[in-house]
Amino acid sequence: MPTPAFLYLCSMKKCGKCNILKSFDDFHKCKSHSDGLSSHCKPCKKIADQQYNELNKERIATRKKEYNELNKEHLAEAKKLYSQKHSERLKEYKKQWHEENRNAIALKKKDYYEKTKDIAIARSRKHYRDNKELIAVKKREYEKKRKDSDPMFRLTCNLRNRLYKACRALSINKQFKTIDSLGLTPDEFKLYIQTLFTDGMSWDNYGLGHDKWSLDHIKPLCMATTEDELFALNHHANLQPMWWFDNLMKAGKYQEQ
Ligand SMILES: [Zn+2]
Repeated sequence: MPTPAFLYLCSMKKCGKCNILKSFDDFHKCKSHSDGLSSHCKPCKKIADQQYNELNKERIATRKKEYNELNKEHLAEAKKLYSQKHSERLKEYKKQWHEENRNAIALKKKDYYEKTKDIAIARSRKHYRDNKELIAVKKREYEKKRKDSDPMFRLTCNLRNRLYKACRALSINKQFKTIDSLGLTPDEFKLYIQTLFTDGMSWDNYGLGHDKWSLDHIKPLCMATTEDELFALNHHANLQPMWWFDNLMKAGKYQEQ
């Protein structure tokens, strides 16, 4: 009957590098050796690999580059297949990585922005200068499309336009933002106007013409003489939805109540 000590020794092997007796698990498998194990233990092998890689850094890099170049298509295909197969896991991993490195990423981004700020601004200005007309056309197209589908957007554009005209009439350069003068966020303003709807009014019939409503300044903008007064008159409390025809009749007839 073999003793436990004998059995223990039978599952041990001496590393040819550090000369320490170690368990079989501490050796990589190697088919060319009679015992099927590498002659150096895992830690020794690791150190040897690192030394080899360090000594042959450039040669390895060149070989790797050549290999990648030769197998470009095959590698790309393999990468694609791998991403498809493990898409969920990769997504999760990416998310986790971002979560763990949030601060470092933010710092890096900020650093990058600071370093390239001037170039980016100059590039963007040049792009604007070179494509001014095209950009204007695209902007008009975008606005038209959005106005057609988003009455609230159309309403805010119209408000801005009216304020702009009122400012021009007073030879004032409009400094404030239309949205700031409302005293509400766009969403709050939309809800506010909705609460003032009378029978038949909806966002589908906002506009000019019969059976349509437009936005009325209760106290008209033409009463303002300064920019501050214009700002005050554009407060949401001074705005109400009104049937287009009534608004037309009211034009200029406002009287202090
Ligand atoms: Zn060793």
